[in-house]
Amino acid sequence: MTTNVTPSPPPASPAPVQSIGRRDAIRFGLLGTAGFLLAGCQSGWKPLDRELGPLARPIPSFRRRNPSSASSALTPDPTLTQLPPSVIPRHTWTAADTIAARANPMVRVRRITVHHDGMPPVSLRSRRDVMRRLEIIRRSHVNARGWADIGYHFVVDPLGNVWEARPLIYQGAHVKDQNQRNMGIMLLGNFDEQSPTRRALAALDSFLIAQMTRFAVPVAEVVTHQELAPTACPGRSLQQHMVQTRSFSGVLTAVHA
Ligand SMILES: [Zn+2]
Repeated sequence: MTTNVTPSPPPASPAPVQSIGRRDAIRFGLLGTAGFLLAGCQSGWKPLDRELGPLARPIPSFRRRNPSSASSALTPDPTLTQLPPSVIPRHTWTAADTIAARANPMVRVRRITVHHDGMPPVSLRSRRDVMRRLEIIRRSHVNARGWADIGYHFVVDPLGNVWEARPLIYQGAHVKDQNQRNMGIMLLGNFDEQSPTRRALAALDSFLIAQMTRFAVPVAEVVTHQELAPTACPGRSLQQHMVQTRSFSGVLTAVHA
């Protein structure tokens, strides 16, 4: 005797490359207890924290109504819009724009803060892997936290590439209440659980030197997240590197900002 069995539906066709499907989310370690709310180094933040905190009020206008009385502090640095040629542009990994209504303008860069992503470690073997990871973090910051964009301005991957993240014309969302004049650079990885690759550290040092020179940022203003706020970010091994690279014998001390 046979039994009629309803055939199973055919397996779903693979998701398009551009989308972040469940399969990608599993691969990149973002389902389960980690969830999307932990994307990024600021997992202690409440999901709907806003960027417009009391120390980060929107600046009314870039334009001077009366040049004789206006402060030059409100005139944005025109070089903020210039992307260094070695940096991979944002449009290569996302079609989304910054939600300008949620963002504050960046007028000057006076400090640089280094972070890690702090999520469960994953293997990022190609630019495509990195692009998917960046988009997952961006969506988490925008959709779950209600931010204007991904929190950091630049991201360094394990292959040694530097990626444009949030455009530098906007303040970041990477150190609570301390985003004014503060460029955020994030290394992909969890450096409490793994070590940065040599290529990533070399890329970070080179990029830091270039940005310190570009914006006249002294080594004393190149800091890590945990030096500004109670957090484990950027993880033990990256913190150790940052201490060394800013020390008397480190490469950053050779920069005359
Ligand atoms: Zn951080």
